[in-house]
Amino acid sequence: MTARVLVVDDIAANVRLLEAKLTAEYFEVVTAMNGVDALDAVQRTKPDIVLLDVMMPGIDGIEVCKRLKANNATAHIPVVMVTALDQPEDRLKGLRAGADDFLTKPVNDISLFSRVKSLVRLKMLTDELRERADVNNGTVGQITKPAALPNASNGHVLLVEPRAQAVERMQAVMSGEHKLAVAIDLPSTMAAIEHAATPFELIIVSLGAEGFDGLRLVSQIRSQDAMRQTPILVIVDPIDQKNLLRALDMGVNDYLMRPVDKQELLARAATQIKRWRYTEQLRGSVKASMEMAITDGLTGLYNRRYLETHMGNLVDHYANRGKVLSVLAVDADHFKAVNDTYGHDAGDAVLRELASRMTRMTRGADLCCRVGGEEFVVVLPGTDLPVARQIGERLRLAVANGPFDIGGGKMIPVTVSIGVSTLVGFDDTPADILKRADEALYAAKRDGRNRVTLAA
Ligand code: GH3
Ligand code: MG
Ligand code: MG
Repeated sequence: MTARVLVVDDIAANVRLLEAKLTAEYFEVVTAMNGVDALDAVQRTKPDIVLLDVMMPGIDGIEVCKRLKANNATAHIPVVMVTALDQPEDRLKGLRAGADDFLTKPVNDISLFSRVKSLVRLKMLTDELRERADVNNGTVGQITKPAALPNASNGHVLLVEPRAQAVERMQAVMSGEHKLAVAIDLPSTMAAIEHAATPFELIIVSLGAEGFDGLRLVSQIRSQDAMRQTPILVIVDPIDQKNLLRALDMGVNDYLMRPVDKQELLARAATQIKRWRYTEQLRGSVKASMEMAITDGLTGLYNRRYLETHMGNLVDHYANRGKVLSVLAVDADHFKAVNDTYGHDAGDAVLRELASRMTRMTRGADLCCRVGGEEFVVVLPGTDLPVARQIGERLRLAVANGPFDIGGGKMIPVTVSIGVSTLVGFDDTPADILKRADEALYAAKRDGRNRVTLAA
């Protein structure tokens, strides 16, 4: 992993020490020796992470951190405060200022590299999500990036700890802050994950208890699709460096040494939960914006673009396996008259209700699309022509037999005409299938509307 690290310290020897360690691990290092230069370097060099000394003349590290976190353009850059061992209150100040993590001087190699790598990995994920959000922003204009880091209160935390006394101690520390569930071994952990009403936001795994293989448990958690990104924090004995390194290799996000310091436990848990919530929000808005790109805003059905890209795959799949697939082309009859008589809003209400009846009359695997103003296409995978005709007839009746509510207590009759076509042979193409359905639809219109017509 390579990344750009900004090292900030007013003492040149400290800067050089960190610079040497990081360069040896192939990080690119940028340095600054006071707060003003640090803020300037962030703007200029766009680092992936900032290692920030607390005590500096002028603008100190806490203030630099506050300013970075208050600025939308830099809030997502991870900041690690480097504090003196004898100044524990600096950690709390740093975390309150929005720091993502802290290291104590003298900085030990395992903690330096594990924390830097874990934060850089996370930054890369968020960068990618932010980038996708920006791309989608250009096309649909609805994406919302989380403005600031979310808070970490009331997290949903799973503690895996086989020793009853340790569980009690942890409960005492965490109870005011988070909802803590407890598991004592591999089966109860998996059961807790499977039955959780809302997904866990942090899993704390205690390593080193007799007869309990915490590393196996970590790898089992990570192998579950839903748990790949869930933060894991392990608690280890200082002598257990070997297991700690293996845990970090497995993608554990953070660790704590025994004896566990309460403040540090709370701070690290909060940091993990906060980050998890931030990426979840980003993921959610990227997903929403992607959905927007493939669905129609008025009806929520898939749009023409989606039909065109997706139907190619469907047709290939079904044609290659010699399976059946049919298509309905659906068009509202004399729809212009609805607009002309009752207004455009009434027309919109009819289109929404049409879409909803269409969805109700079809299966989950069927693809309902709005391809034009009052024109729809339903793709029916695994359905042959006679059954497709029945489905078309069912849909026609579902429209014709129930008047449409256009608001203001008004109900109006609506009918649709439907053309049906089916996949014939493996060199058939989506365009041809749709064309035949359209031709059948025009025949239905010509023959008097409110009817289902099969392609010739
Ligand atoms: P036919 O039975 O031959 O299909 O007649 P029609 O009036 O339904 O067909 P035509 O294509 O002449 O008119 C379609 C109308 O649909 C014209 C347009 O104003 C209306 N329309 C298209 N999109 C929308 C929309 O999003 N909302 C509303 N309210 N009306 C729409
Ligand atoms: Mg029409
Ligand atoms: Mg039309």
